[in-house]
Amino acid sequence: MLNKLQNRKCNRSRFVIIMLTAYILAACNTNNQTHLQKIKAKGELRIVTRQGPTTYFIGGNGPSGFEYDLAARFAEFLGVSLSVISSDDLDGIMSTVNAGKADLAAAGLTITPEREKLYHFSPPYQNIDVKLVFKQGKYWPRNFDQLDGKLTVLAQSSHAELLLQQKKHYAMLSWHESNQLAVEDLVESIVDDSLSYTLIDSNDLSLQRRYHPELAIAFTVAKDQQLAWAFSRKDDDSLYQAATEFFSFMQKSGDLAQLQEIYYGHLKTFDYVGSTRFLQAAQTRLPQFIPFFKSSAKQNLDWKLLAAIAYQESHWNPKAKSPTGVRGMMMLTLPTAKHLGIKSRLDPKQSIEGGARYFEQILKKIPKRIKEPDFTWMALAAYNVGFGHLEDARILTQFQGGDPDKWIDVKERLPLLRQRKWYKFTRHGYARGDEPVQYVDNVRRYYEVLKWLYDDDEKPGDNPLEEINPEQQVN
Ligand code: GLU
Repeated sequence: MLNKLQNRKCNRSRFVIIMLTAYILAACNTNNQTHLQKIKAKGELRIVTRQGPTTYFIGGNGPSGFEYDLAARFAEFLGVSLSVISSDDLDGIMSTVNAGKADLAAAGLTITPEREKLYHFSPPYQNIDVKLVFKQGKYWPRNFDQLDGKLTVLAQSSHAELLLQQKKHYAMLSWHESNQLAVEDLVESIVDDSLSYTLIDSNDLSLQRRYHPELAIAFTVAKDQQLAWAFSRKDDDSLYQAATEFFSFMQKSGDLAQLQEIYYGHLKTFDYVGSTRFLQAAQTRLPQFIPFFKSSAKQNLDWKLLAAIAYQESHWNPKAKSPTGVRGMMMLTLPTAKHLGIKSRLDPKQSIEGGARYFEQILKKIPKRIKEPDFTWMALAAYNVGFGHLEDARILTQFQGGDPDKWIDVKERLPLLRQRKWYKFTRHGYARGDEPVQYVDNVRRYYEVLKWLYDDDEKPGDNPLEEINPEQQVN
């Protein structure tokens, strides 16, 4: 009996020793793993970012933003899932990476000499300029010597670093650094006169100006600054190497250009008068027609997209007429109206209904394999130029080695439909192919502003960026 007991005890301690050894070996193994191997073993890539229209926000279809999409592609490339930590300020972003709580920072970060001492940067994915901005109508300074008000920039930002360099040339230059405000807040403070000047990256500016056209550029502070992801220098460089491979793949495949097209392709030109007029009309003229847009959009369309189309067509003027015979809020031709059973094109409710049904018919013709948002953009182009001409441009795209399912490639070929040497090979012949390109860019811009003005609860004035789950914040 005693023997048996001793044996059992002995067996148990042997078992404990084996388990302990296995545990220690496993622990040693994890310690020997590279950063990349650890990420793969955990099945998760953790990024830290900041909320904003150029980085990360929760849109109608869930998480979006250039940085988010890019990081999601990287996670896919590594075969792991993505988890996002959102930090309020640049200091929080950097300390999250330093503390090893995130594998990388993807937050529209500029590569700077000071930062390079502390972080590894991925190959740059975007070049931007830095502009000093002020409110339109106020005194326009041409250089730092001429500033006559308070200049505020984000604390720990590349802009603060730039100002330190400028101080060598402009001894009187002074500024304030804030860690309370985000880029959007700085911009709003300029518009509401609580601040005079700030520095802003040109990609941020191109978006912000759509909502605040009165934001004016005083001068360019720095050109060709590079945005990239930052990695802690405390980690080995296995993840950094994988990111380098990833960016090379994104460049070669054209996917990086495609992502840039999604977020910035329609923002290349800025028209102050047009943007201001649109914002005014969205708040004064549009509201009376919203019930018609909503009832015609039904479940499958977004009323804000229909409203954006209507603005492009008629500036929300139900009595609009063009010399070519198109009429009304949605500028329908007589045959289209007849075909859709519309009796009066000048009646806004009927016109919107006709436009919505016509747009739906076009959506049905666009091949389902085309992914969003390209799917909607192709439909918009077809709504403008006709489905046949869009098809011709897609065939031309394929003929020239482009991808007929990508808007960025088709957009480049549509204008060729004006040239005889190209349209003579097409089925539907000549078309003013540059017009649908402009049309799609305009509708996209209007649609974005309407989404910003009218969020999903349809309360005017709420900023969709505020919908982000507070649990994702790092404080
Ligand atoms: N690119 C800036 C930086 O790295 C951040 C963006 C901004 O503040 O506009 O500091």
